[in-house]
Amino acid sequence: CGIFAYLNYNVERQRSHILEVLFNGLRRLEYRGYDSSGIAIDASSSSPVADSSTLHPLVFRQEGNIESLVKSVYQEVGAMDLNMEESLSVHAGIAHTRWATHGEPAPRNSHPQGSGPGNDFLVVHNGIITNHKVLKETLLRHGFTFESETDTEVIPKLVKYIFDQSSEGEGGQAATFSQVVIEVLRHLEGAYALIFKSKHYPNELVACKRGSPLILGVKEFAEDDDGGFSSSNGNPKELFLSSDESALVEHTKRVLRLQDDELVHLKDGRVSILKFSSDRGRSGGVLRRSTS
Ligand code: GLU
Repeated sequence: CGIFAYLNYNVERQRSHILEVLFNGLRRLEYRGYDSSGIAIDASSSSPVADSSTLHPLVFRQEGNIESLVKSVYQEVGAMDLNMEESLSVHAGIAHTRWATHGEPAPRNSHPQGSGPGNDFLVVHNGIITNHKVLKETLLRHGFTFESETDTEVIPKLVKYIFDQSSEGEGGQAATFSQVVIEVLRHLEGAYALIFKSKHYPNELVACKRGSPLILGVKEFAEDDDGGFSSSNGNPKELFLSSDESALVEHTKRVLRLQDDELVHLKDGRVSILKFSSDRGRSGGVLRRSTS
Protein backbone atom coordinates (compact mmCIF):
# COMPACT_ATOMS: atom_id res chain seq x y z
CA CYS A 1 0.00 0.00 0.00
CA GLY A 2 1.17 3.54 -0.55
CA ILE A 3 0.27 7.19 -0.58
CA PHE A 4 1.42 9.85 -3.00
CA ALA A 5 0.79 13.54 -3.61
CA TYR A 6 1.85 16.07 -6.21
CA LEU A 7 1.59 19.83 -5.76
CA ASN A 8 2.73 22.18 -8.51
CA TYR A 9 3.17 25.77 -7.42
CA ASN A 10 3.59 28.64 -9.90
CA VAL A 11 4.53 26.13 -12.58
CA GLU A 12 2.05 25.65 -15.41
CA ARG A 13 1.04 22.03 -15.69
CA GLN A 14 -1.63 20.58 -17.90
CA ARG A 15 -4.30 18.55 -16.17
CA SER A 16 -3.25 15.50 -18.22
CA HIS A 17 0.32 15.89 -16.90
CA ILE A 18 -0.88 16.17 -13.30
CA LEU A 19 -2.86 12.95 -13.73
CA GLU A 20 0.14 11.16 -15.23
CA VAL A 21 2.40 12.22 -12.36
CA LEU A 22 -0.14 10.83 -9.89
CA PHE A 23 -0.58 7.59 -11.86
CA ASN A 24 3.19 7.13 -12.18
CA GLY A 25 3.54 7.66 -8.45
CA LEU A 26 1.05 4.85 -7.89
CA ARG A 27 2.79 2.61 -10.42
CA ARG A 28 6.04 3.03 -8.49
CA LEU A 29 4.29 2.11 -5.26
CA GLU A 30 2.52 -0.89 -6.77
CA TYR A 31 5.18 -3.35 -5.57
CA ARG A 32 4.22 -2.60 -1.97
CA GLY A 33 0.98 -4.49 -2.57
CA TYR A 34 -2.53 -3.25 -3.29
CA ASP A 35 -6.06 -4.39 -3.93
CA SER A 36 -7.49 -1.05 -5.05
CA SER A 37 -6.48 2.53 -5.68
CA GLY A 38 -7.76 6.04 -6.04
CA ILE A 39 -6.93 9.69 -6.66
CA ALA A 40 -8.39 13.14 -6.04
CA ILE A 41 -7.79 16.16 -8.25
CA ASP A 42 -9.58 19.49 -8.66
CA ALA A 43 -11.87 20.61 -11.38
CA SER A 44 -11.54 24.38 -11.28
CA SER A 45 -11.24 27.46 -13.37
CA SER A 46 -7.71 28.19 -14.52
CA SER A 47 -7.59 31.14 -12.13
CA PRO A 48 -4.40 30.98 -10.08
CA VAL A 49 -6.30 32.16 -7.01
CA ALA A 50 -8.76 29.36 -6.72
CA ASP A 51 -11.08 29.48 -3.76
CA SER A 52 -13.51 27.05 -2.24
CA SER A 53 -16.31 28.26 -4.48
CA THR A 54 -14.44 27.47 -7.70
CA LEU A 55 -12.75 24.27 -6.56
CA HIS A 56 -14.58 21.01 -7.01
CA PRO A 57 -12.72 17.98 -5.81
CA LEU A 58 -13.05 15.01 -8.12
CA VAL A 59 -12.52 11.61 -6.55
CA PHE A 60 -11.86 8.44 -8.54
CA ARG A 61 -11.62 5.05 -6.88
CA GLN A 62 -11.29 1.62 -8.36
CA GLU A 63 -10.81 -1.96 -7.31
CA GLY A 64 -7.97 -3.91 -8.89
CA ASN A 65 -4.73 -2.72 -10.41
CA ILE A 66 -3.51 0.79 -11.23
CA GLU A 67 -4.23 0.40 -14.92
CA SER A 68 -7.89 -0.26 -14.20
CA LEU A 69 -7.96 3.00 -12.21
CA VAL A 70 -6.24 4.82 -15.08
CA LYS A 71 -8.75 3.45 -17.56
CA SER A 72 -11.75 4.39 -15.46
CA VAL A 73 -10.42 7.89 -14.76
CA TYR A 74 -9.99 8.61 -18.46
CA GLN A 75 -13.47 7.25 -19.15
CA GLU A 76 -15.03 9.40 -16.44
CA VAL A 77 -13.19 12.62 -17.26
CA GLY A 78 -14.09 12.05 -20.91
CA ALA A 79 -17.75 11.72 -19.97
CA MET A 80 -17.68 14.89 -17.87
CA ASP A 81 -15.92 16.96 -20.54
CA LEU A 82 -13.08 17.99 -18.26
CA ASN A 83 -10.45 19.85 -20.28
CA MET A 84 -7.32 17.72 -20.05
CA GLU A 85 -5.15 20.32 -21.82
CA GLU A 86 -6.05 23.09 -19.40
CA SER A 87 -2.94 24.49 -17.71
CA LEU A 88 -3.06 24.90 -13.95
CA SER A 89 -0.39 27.04 -12.33
CA VAL A 90 -1.23 25.70 -8.88
CA HIS A 91 -2.79 22.36 -8.09
CA ALA A 92 -2.69 19.75 -5.33
CA GLY A 93 -3.48 16.12 -6.15
CA ILE A 94 -3.44 13.06 -3.90
CA ALA A 95 -3.31 9.33 -4.64
CA HIS A 96 -3.48 5.98 -2.84
CA THR A 97 -2.91 2.29 -3.33
CA ARG A 98 -4.84 0.30 -0.74
CA TRP A 99 -4.09 -2.93 1.02
CA ALA A 100 -7.33 -3.46 2.89
CA THR A 101 -7.25 -3.98 6.63
CA HIS A 102 -10.86 -2.98 7.43
CA GLY A 103 -13.52 -3.48 4.77
CA GLU A 104 -13.32 -5.57 1.61
CA PRO A 105 -11.65 -4.23 -1.54
CA ALA A 106 -14.38 -2.16 -3.20
CA PRO A 107 -14.64 1.38 -4.59
CA ARG A 108 -16.50 2.66 -1.49
CA ASN A 109 -13.70 1.36 0.74
CA SER A 110 -10.92 2.73 -1.45
CA HIS A 111 -9.21 5.99 -0.70
CA PRO A 112 -9.40 8.99 -0.82
CA GLN A 113 -12.02 8.76 1.89
CA GLY A 114 -14.20 11.84 2.19
CA SER A 115 -15.93 13.93 4.82
CA GLY A 116 -19.40 13.53 3.30
CA PRO A 117 -21.42 15.33 0.61
CA GLY A 118 -19.21 17.77 -1.31
CA ASN A 119 -16.05 16.04 -0.09
CA ASP A 120 -14.87 19.16 1.75
CA PHE A 121 -12.04 17.12 3.23
CA LEU A 122 -10.28 14.16 1.63
CA VAL A 123 -7.78 11.80 3.20
CA VAL A 124 -5.46 9.06 1.99
CA HIS A 125 -4.18 6.76 4.72
CA ASN A 126 -1.70 3.96 5.15
CA GLY A 127 -1.93 2.08 8.39
CA ILE A 128 -4.62 1.28 10.93
CA ILE A 129 -6.63 3.53 13.25
CA THR A 130 -7.11 1.28 16.26
CA ASN A 131 -9.72 3.43 18.02
CA HIS A 132 -11.88 3.93 14.93
CA LYS A 133 -14.94 2.25 16.51
CA VAL A 134 -15.27 4.68 19.38
CA LEU A 135 -14.60 7.65 17.06
CA LYS A 136 -17.24 6.38 14.67
CA GLU A 137 -19.84 6.06 17.44
CA THR A 138 -19.16 9.62 18.52
CA LEU A 139 -19.37 10.94 14.97
CA LEU A 140 -22.61 9.02 14.36
CA ARG A 141 -24.07 10.76 17.39
CA HIS A 142 -23.06 14.06 15.80
CA GLY A 143 -25.07 13.21 12.70
CA PHE A 144 -22.37 11.90 10.37
CA THR A 145 -23.23 8.97 8.13
CA PHE A 146 -20.64 6.45 6.96
CA GLU A 147 -20.32 4.95 3.51
CA SER A 148 -17.42 2.57 3.99
CA GLU A 149 -16.32 -0.17 6.35
CA THR A 150 -12.83 1.30 6.65
CA ASP A 151 -11.12 2.47 9.81
CA THR A 152 -9.95 5.45 7.73
CA GLU A 153 -13.32 7.09 7.15
CA VAL A 154 -13.46 8.48 10.71
CA ILE A 155 -10.52 10.75 9.83
CA PRO A 156 -12.10 12.98 7.13
CA LYS A 157 -15.33 13.08 9.17
CA LEU A 158 -13.43 14.15 12.24
CA VAL A 159 -11.60 16.86 10.28
CA LYS A 160 -14.91 18.20 9.03
CA TYR A 161 -16.37 18.14 12.52
CA ILE A 162 -13.39 19.94 14.03
CA PHE A 163 -13.21 22.43 11.15
CA ASP A 164 -16.90 23.29 11.55
CA GLN A 165 -16.51 23.63 15.31
CA SER A 166 -13.46 25.84 15.04
CA SER A 167 -14.93 28.09 12.35
CA GLU A 168 -18.11 28.55 14.42
CA GLY A 169 -16.28 29.12 17.68
CA GLU A 170 -13.49 31.47 16.85
CA GLY A 171 -15.51 34.12 15.08
CA GLY A 172 -12.47 35.85 13.64
CA GLN A 173 -9.20 34.29 12.69
CA ALA A 174 -9.87 30.99 10.94
CA ALA A 175 -7.77 28.01 11.97
CA THR A 176 -4.99 27.05 9.58
CA PHE A 177 -5.13 23.69 7.84
CA SER A 178 -2.30 22.34 10.00
CA GLN A 179 -3.99 23.54 13.21
CA VAL A 180 -7.17 21.68 12.26
CA VAL A 181 -5.23 18.51 11.42
CA ILE A 182 -3.20 18.64 14.64
CA GLU A 183 -6.45 18.80 16.59
CA VAL A 184 -7.65 15.71 14.68
CA LEU A 185 -4.42 13.82 15.43
CA ARG A 186 -4.99 14.25 19.15
CA HIS A 187 -7.90 11.83 18.81
CA LEU A 188 -6.25 9.16 16.62
CA GLU A 189 -4.61 6.01 17.91
CA GLY A 190 -2.73 3.54 15.77
CA ALA A 191 -0.30 3.78 12.90
CA TYR A 192 -0.59 6.11 10.00
CA ALA A 193 0.82 8.08 7.17
CA LEU A 194 -1.82 10.58 6.10
CA ILE A 195 -2.28 13.23 3.44
CA PHE A 196 -5.13 15.74 3.76
CA LYS A 197 -6.67 17.85 1.01
CA SER A 198 -9.52 20.34 1.34
CA LYS A 199 -11.43 22.83 -0.74
CA HIS A 200 -11.45 25.07 2.34
CA TYR A 201 -7.66 25.26 1.97
CA PRO A 202 -7.24 25.44 -1.80
CA ASN A 203 -3.91 24.25 -3.19
CA GLU A 204 -2.59 23.30 0.23
CA LEU A 205 -1.73 19.87 1.54
CA VAL A 206 -1.07 18.65 5.05
CA ALA A 207 0.63 15.32 5.68
CA CYS A 208 1.88 13.55 8.76
CA LYS A 209 3.15 10.24 9.96
CA ARG A 210 3.37 7.93 12.93
CA GLY A 211 4.54 4.39 12.32
CA SER A 212 4.12 4.37 8.52
CA PRO A 213 6.69 5.87 6.15
CA LEU A 214 6.34 9.27 4.48
CA ILE A 215 8.87 11.11 2.35
CA LEU A 216 8.85 14.67 1.06
CA GLY A 217 10.40 15.58 -2.28
CA VAL A 218 11.16 19.14 -3.39
CA LYS A 219 11.94 20.27 -6.92
CA GLU A 220 12.60 23.98 -7.06
CA PHE A 221 12.85 26.20 -10.15
CA ALA A 222 14.81 29.26 -9.07
CA GLU A 223 18.29 30.73 -8.76
CA ASP A 224 17.90 31.63 -5.11
CA ASP A 225 16.99 28.08 -4.20
CA ASP A 226 17.95 27.72 -0.56
CA GLY A 227 18.42 23.98 -0.83
CA GLY A 228 16.57 23.35 2.40
CA PHE A 229 13.33 21.64 3.25
CA SER A 230 11.70 23.98 5.71
CA SER A 231 11.87 26.39 2.84
CA SER A 232 10.42 29.80 3.49
CA ASN A 233 10.44 31.04 -0.07
CA GLY A 234 7.53 31.06 -2.47
CA ASN A 235 9.62 30.11 -5.53
CA PRO A 236 7.99 28.08 -8.28
CA LYS A 237 8.31 24.44 -7.38
CA GLU A 238 6.93 20.96 -7.49
CA LEU A 239 6.37 19.20 -4.19
CA PHE A 240 5.86 15.49 -3.72
CA LEU A 241 4.86 13.25 -0.85
CA SER A 242 5.32 9.51 -1.07
CA SER A 243 5.46 6.34 1.02
CA ASP A 244 8.62 5.41 -0.78
CA GLU A 245 11.62 7.14 -2.34
CA SER A 246 11.27 5.03 -5.47
CA ALA A 247 8.33 7.20 -6.54
CA LEU A 248 10.39 10.40 -6.12
CA VAL A 249 13.73 9.65 -7.80
CA GLU A 250 12.43 10.47 -11.28
CA HIS A 251 11.46 13.95 -10.03
CA THR A 252 14.10 15.09 -7.56
CA LYS A 253 17.07 14.07 -5.48
CA ARG A 254 16.05 16.45 -2.73
CA VAL A 255 14.09 14.17 -0.45
CA LEU A 256 13.43 14.21 3.26
CA ARG A 257 12.28 11.20 5.22
CA LEU A 258 9.81 12.47 7.81
CA GLN A 259 10.12 11.33 11.40
CA ASP A 260 7.29 10.00 13.51
CA ASP A 261 5.08 12.78 14.86
CA GLU A 262 6.17 15.18 12.14
CA LEU A 263 3.66 17.08 10.11
CA VAL A 264 4.34 18.91 6.87
CA HIS A 265 2.19 21.76 5.64
CA LEU A 266 2.54 22.79 1.98
CA LYS A 267 1.12 26.24 1.34
CA ASP A 268 1.91 29.06 -1.12
CA GLY A 269 5.03 27.25 -2.27
CA ARG A 270 6.31 27.05 1.27
CA VAL A 271 7.15 23.91 3.19
CA SER A 272 6.64 23.98 6.96
CA ILE A 273 7.54 21.02 9.09
CA LEU A 274 6.05 20.89 12.57
CA LYS A 275 6.24 18.41 15.38
CA PHE A 276 2.81 17.37 16.56
CA SER A 277 2.45 16.20 20.11
CA SER A 278 2.06 12.52 20.84
CA ASP A 279 0.11 13.50 23.94
CA ARG A 280 -3.60 13.07 23.28
CA GLY A 281 -4.28 15.68 25.91
CA ARG A 282 -6.06 14.73 29.11
CA SER A 283 -8.17 17.83 29.02
CA GLY A 284 -9.57 16.60 25.73
CA GLY A 285 -9.90 18.37 22.43
CA VAL A 286 -12.85 19.95 20.71
CA LEU A 287 -14.53 16.59 20.21
CA ARG A 288 -14.39 15.49 23.81
CA ARG A 289 -15.52 18.85 25.17
CA SER A 290 -18.59 18.88 23.01
CA THR A 291 -19.60 15.32 23.81
CA SER A 292 -19.40 15.65 27.57
N1 GLU B 1 -6.64 0.66 7.11
C1 GLU B 1 -6.94 1.35 5.90
C2 GLU B 1 -7.97 0.60 5.09
O1 GLU B 1 -8.20 -0.56 5.27
C3 GLU B 1 -5.70 1.64 5.05
C4 GLU B 1 -5.10 0.40 4.47
C5 GLU B 1 -3.77 0.71 3.75
O2 GLU B 1 -2.79 0.99 4.45
O3 GLU B 1 -3.74 0.65 2.52
O4 GLU B 1 -8.61 1.17 4.26
